[in-house]
Amino acid sequence: MARLAYVNGRYLPHGSAAVHIEDRGYQFADGVYEVVTIIGGRMIDEEPHLDRLERSLREIEIPMPMRRAVLKMVMRELVRRNRIRDGLLYMQISRGVSPRDHKYPDPSLPPAVVMTTRKADYVNNAKFADGVKVITIPDIRWQRCDIKTVSLLPNCIGKTMAARAGAYEAWQVDADGMVTEGTSSNAWIVTRDGTLVTRPATHAILNGITRLSILRIAREEGIAFEERPFSVEEAKSAREAFTSSATSFATPVVQIDDTVIANGKPGSLSRRIFETYMDYCRGLRSADAAPAAQGRRAG
Ligand code: PLP
Repeated sequence: MARLAYVNGRYLPHGSAAVHIEDRGYQFADGVYEVVTIIGGRMIDEEPHLDRLERSLREIEIPMPMRRAVLKMVMRELVRRNRIRDGLLYMQISRGVSPRDHKYPDPSLPPAVVMTTRKADYVNNAKFADGVKVITIPDIRWQRCDIKTVSLLPNCIGKTMAARAGAYEAWQVDADGMVTEGTSSNAWIVTRDGTLVTRPATHAILNGITRLSILRIAREEGIAFEERPFSVEEAKSAREAFTSSATSFATPVVQIDDTVIANGKPGSLSRRIFETYMDYCRGLRSADAAPAAQGRRAG
């Protein structure tokens, strides 16, 4: 069965699907994207991903290309046509096709929409049992990392540095020595007193949908958490660490640069969060809001 992509209203063979050479996404990285994981035919956190997509579009003044209900129908149709049970859906919306000129074209320009899918089993992976290594690198990105733009060159550089160092991910570090986030994931630690810590969702990071689900789980489970910046030194002496994203869930981190975290094995709280999050992904747990908020937010 031919793999299909959705391009501006048409379902095309993946191998020959293409956008125009003057697509502003191609020329200026003038566009945004989302990645939705699919497990057992379910799109995980579909609505929050679409909320974030709409926010990203709003922040850079690109109109929604179609109503959300229609976008969801296209997503479902592409997943159905490609027979995806386990994998992901990638969606990219650029400002559209226009003669090359830096300033935004007329707002009536129709945005360009591309969707692709990929079959993959993201759940059964040795990294969840063994943990991974991360390196730390300077955060050289711009000051609106909260927008999920396709402008990802610094992230590509960082991930390549990680791969060359035999690591899974690179945690980026701001000018004050505080960890911002990974190149495609959010960074977490567990302090010696068992508090879960992650950076607050300011313009310095992408507010991960997995991050939000984990914070909700922490609230529901009565796990103490803080949204505050943490330094590389604090991370290296933490009791546990992990990194989160739609396709890596909550991946335990057992080494940061040359420092082994605790006993070099995934920590028990990381494991509990991973298992609880996977129950949620498998539909064994609902996303009901919890009554008691244990979290504190600082910085
Ligand atoms: N931070 C960055 C820079 C990312 O690119 C991603 C995912 O692509 C995340 C965090 C995690 O976001 P999510 O949990 O929505 O996948």
